[in-house]
Amino acid sequence: MTVGGGARSSGTAVVVGSGPNGLAGAITLARAGLRVTVVEAADQVGGGLRSAESTLPGLVHDHCAGFHPLAVDNVFSRTVDLAARGVEWLRAPYEMSHPLLGGRGAVVSGTVAETAAGLGDDAAAWTRLFGRVADRMPTTLDEFGQPVLHLPRHPVDLALFGLRAAPPADVVARTFRRPETRALWLGITAHGFRPPSAPFTSAVGIALGAAAQQVGWPVVRGGSQVLADALVAELASYGGSVETGRRVTDLGELGGADVVLLDTSPRDAGRILGDRLAPRLRDRYAEWRHGVGAYQLALAVDGGVPWTHEPSRSAAVVHVGGEAGPLAAAARDVRRGRVPAHPFVLVGQQAMADPARGRGTVVPVDAYAHVPVGCEEDLTDRVLDELERYAPGLRERIVAMTVRPPAEVERQGINYVGGDISTGATFLDQLLLGPRPGRSPYPTGVPGVYLCSSATAPGPGAHGLCGYGAASAALRDLAD
Ligand SMILES: Cc1cc2nc3c(=O)[nH]c(=O)nc-3n(C[C@H](O)[C@H](O)[C@H](O)COP(=O)(O)OP(=O)(O)OC[C@H]3O[C@@H](n4cnc5c(N)ncnc54)[C@H](O)[C@@H]3O)c2cc1C
Repeated sequence: MTVGGGARSSGTAVVVGSGPNGLAGAITLARAGLRVTVVEAADQVGGGLRSAESTLPGLVHDHCAGFHPLAVDNVFSRTVDLAARGVEWLRAPYEMSHPLLGGRGAVVSGTVAETAAGLGDDAAAWTRLFGRVADRMPTTLDEFGQPVLHLPRHPVDLALFGLRAAPPADVVARTFRRPETRALWLGITAHGFRPPSAPFTSAVGIALGAAAQQVGWPVVRGGSQVLADALVAELASYGGSVETGRRVTDLGELGGADVVLLDTSPRDAGRILGDRLAPRLRDRYAEWRHGVGAYQLALAVDGGVPWTHEPSRSAAVVHVGGEAGPLAAAARDVRRGRVPAHPFVLVGQQAMADPARGRGTVVPVDAYAHVPVGCEEDLTDRVLDELERYAPGLRERIVAMTVRPPAEVERQGINYVGGDISTGATFLDQLLLGPRPGRSPYPTGVPGVYLCSSATAPGPGAHGLCGYGAASAALRDLAD
């Protein structure tokens, strides 16, 4: 992705929203010479990068994004000296694990060779799947922010990725002999929120799995908020500023800025732009679908989670959902709007990488289950029951808990409509075509206004690439 050719621009820009994409877009515009203000609805900057003492004083929980496989080395993050701004990436002994009943399970380690060594008969198949793509992941990722049809700068990397990404995840799972390896693979692909029989469901598994075995699934020392604050400091170094506690409801409030980036959901963008949008795009924004909700539990756990599968105790992320059959059933149920009997739960154990997040023997644990979007049922017991199957005795160790059902997830992060942490980008048509089918996903058709949230390419994750892509498009338009 190229940014405005290095040419200096002048004028003003307003970025609505201070999530990783808003901040990445703001920095990119400010560095090019625009006077940038970020306007944020919440009282705290960072969107999905916020951290807080959600359970007990002294226990740092990541509100949303805790793990940063796609942020460490990408075309945007390479432009910022994050280390100089206080960001330190920390990795746990294992990047992720997938426990099964009876103390069985499998883990992803820091390299393909290390992971494969733990997978017995499946070592060769695992190496075939990830061996040639892991090292190429950063440059492959650089291609993802481009329109679907573009001339790739790294065609071999993209081709290797594409060949592996195209099949449904369950077809790839069948190349493994052991149930542990099948579950490990399907747990990674479940981050895409789609049933494993759907086309292209391997793409998320390859991207996240390859990154795990290359840069890892690191956490930020002290919490993801440190990354948000570093981005704000970078913006300030170019003269940009952030105003919090102000929700933008109409473009007219922004005082005729030359460039406006909207780090908002497409539906909110539709409301902000109103009749200025062409009717077809107004309809597409208004009808933007939100797929899967998150039911979040922030836990303070004395002594950590007592996983029966010993290696899971030192993994950064634990995927709970059992073997291939139950994983697929849970994903299908959620897509049909039903609460699964055994929901898929992602458990973040940031303290395994960053022990200072805890207090004495009590550690913060951040879990969320995949549930139907907008689900209003009280599922706390069901989620805890699911965790207890793999970690009996967990309940007795919980000393404090904060529950965020989907409605609360949306209240605290307004882009996550119905608790959809992907901002709708997981339906195949939406994922491939974006909010505005055409060459670039970012322009809204309203002069100078661009959508830059994770509803646009390359999609969900706290990587900033959507913001960088939108700002780059704006700078190119300014230069024309
Ligand atoms: C529970 C959970 C766990 C996650 N885990 C991970 C993870 O481990 N790793 C990872 O990479 N990703 C993870 N994600 C996803 C990641 O957080 C998002 O993909 C990412 O934050 C999207 O960035 P964004 O800038 O597009 O939007 P957001 O981060 O949501 O930021 C948007 C910001 O814009 C503001 N805003 C929106 N509309 C307006 C308006 N009209 N006026 C003013 N302000 C507005 C919002 O208040 C918000 O601050 C997780 C998300 C959740 C919820």
